Amino acid sequence: MTTTAHEETLGFQTEVKQLLHLMIHSLYSNREIFLRELISNAADACDKLRYAALDNDALYDGDSELRIEIEHDAEAGTVTVRDNGIGMSRDEVIQNLGTIARSGTAEFLKQLSGEQQKDARLIGQFGVGFYSGFIVADEVTVRTRKAGADKAAGVEWRSKGEGEFTVADIEREAHGTEIILHLKQDATEFADEYRLQSLVRKYSDHIEVPVRMPKVETAKDDDGNVIEGSEVTSWETVNEATALWARPKSEVSDDEYKAFYKHVAHDFSDPLTWSHNKVEGKLEYTSLLYIPGRAPFDLYERDGARGVKLYVQRVFIMDDAEQFLPLYLRFVKGVLDTRDLSLNVSREILQQDPKVERIKSALTKRVLDMLKKLSKDSEAYQTFWNTFGSVLKEGPAEDFANRDKIAALLRFSTTHTDSATQDQSLADYVARMQKGQEKIYYLVADGFNAAKSSPHLEIFRKKGIEVLLLHDRVDEWLMSHLHEFEGKRFADIAKGELDLGEIEGEEEKKAQEETAKAKEALVKRVKEALGDAVQEVKVTHRLTDSPACVVLPEHEMGYQMRRIMEAAGQTLPEVKPILELNPTHALIERLEAAEDEGFEDLARVLLDQAVIAEGGHLDDPAAYVRRLNALLTA
Ligand code: ADP
Ligand code: MG
Repeated sequence: MTTTAHEETLGFQTEVKQLLHLMIHSLYSNREIFLRELISNAADACDKLRYAALDNDALYDGDSELRIEIEHDAEAGTVTVRDNGIGMSRDEVIQNLGTIARSGTAEFLKQLSGEQQKDARLIGQFGVGFYSGFIVADEVTVRTRKAGADKAAGVEWRSKGEGEFTVADIEREAHGTEIILHLKQDATEFADEYRLQSLVRKYSDHIEVPVRMPKVETAKDDDGNVIEGSEVTSWETVNEATALWARPKSEVSDDEYKAFYKHVAHDFSDPLTWSHNKVEGKLEYTSLLYIPGRAPFDLYERDGARGVKLYVQRVFIMDDAEQFLPLYLRFVKGVLDTRDLSLNVSREILQQDPKVERIKSALTKRVLDMLKKLSKDSEAYQTFWNTFGSVLKEGPAEDFANRDKIAALLRFSTTHTDSATQDQSLADYVARMQKGQEKIYYLVADGFNAAKSSPHLEIFRKKGIEVLLLHDRVDEWLMSHLHEFEGKRFADIAKGELDLGEIEGEEEKKAQEETAKAKEALVKRVKEALGDAVQEVKVTHRLTDSPACVVLPEHEMGYQMRRIMEAAGQTLPEVKPILELNPTHALIERLEAAEDEGFEDLARVLLDQAVIAEGGHLDDPAAYVRRLNALLTA
């Protein structure tokens, strides 16, 4: 009998209640994962004790053989998961098993609407952890004692998962934690030796700590009947119990790699691919890196979880060691185990150690190579790109040295397919370049539709020249860091002079010059009418269907970037666009024929329309509407 004292009943944090609800309803067909989660926590607790004991051997309390034990009682309908790891104090129990530690997860849950909460896919975006016990149990009891604490400092936690939990002080002989699941009526199938064994093998084979189950042996008499009182219980290790990454590649199956991924990434679904490498020589480390198939909810959050699980000589050091991968590869999950660092490294030391920088650059190459390999499987790569493409686009700005490798991994929408799906590579584009074409042409707009019907494309469509249609928020910024690909320079078709190089013949160029001359007077009149609203006015051959367009000087910041910076509160110097007129358009002919006030109104309408087509804002939209209406009723 345990005597309990100082008992108090507390309410779960609102987000925990939400998580419990979401989990119980959406994970019904995947109930068995509770065991993986509890074993994973037990293994973490053993890792933590081993790490703490490096400085203070006494924490083992004479029991340094770290292990996890699983027991069941079919009659009582219980399953127990026990470890002799670090354990928890009363405060830690209340904190860890009553709230959701990661603030991001709590934030995320707060934002979910009722409908979304029913969505099982959402739950895969964050680890379910300890609370998953309630998928199969209608009551959970936890008994724990922190390593190094007094025997009287044990704690018991109980809950039916319905909004509140009770904690009490107990006496506990051993340090570590024991979790007892009182199975629901319809989950008693889990109180079964073979079921438990097979689940341990399925989910926890790769865990380095041994997972043991009791084996009861009995003696039988000559007639084959069990001799009463002859039962002897011995403990049998059920899992492989070696760190998966420390095993040779050839001995690890795909299923084992996938199971390990789910453990390190807290994900439900399979990874897209992985890369397992042992490096010896100047640096000595083993890495096992995965590309997930789905994005975590905090991918774009500043303090979102990122980085690898760090081990030094097989001793767990820390989760989310973000120093070993650049930010633009923050979606990568996995493990790094090295001999090059000392066991007492801290995050601060990691920031200064030059070896860390060298490992980082090696791991970066690894990941880029892994992605290159993945790109041979177009379906899998498309999944990757749709999920993480806009993160990878941060690469050229962050990682100058690998710019070319990253460029080869980028995918775009283009006029070749006219599809919003970004699935064309720069190599595809270059292979389709026309004879005489020297540049890779692109256009940046706020959305795919705006890009697809931009007036700037008219001449390119007419001549059948492909243009990349960039419509992601980060695209203009990306392009400002990419200058060429395979020796071909990039050209923004909405900036600077239109230069089609040798695609245009001598005759065409001559004809253009002649038109320009013929329209000199018109151009002058328009410039006078518009005053300093524009930097310059010219005639153009960019356009076939539109009367006019605006163009920015070559090195000017584009409209997309301006909008982003302005939204971030920056004030930018005004840019005056260049207005280009299509001399073959009926409206330009009408403009030529117009006089005085009519001329000025039409010229201003043409300018404002061109700005709108570019996705820009008008200073005085009402004036535009007034002028347009005047023209319509004239
Ligand atoms: P996570 O493992 O992702 O942190 P969990 O919900 O699985 O989230 O666990 C919450 C916290 O409860 C853990 O971070 C740990 O501090 C604590 N915990 C859970 N199980 C144990 C255990 N067996 N021993 C010690 N601490 C534990
Ligand atoms: Mg956990």
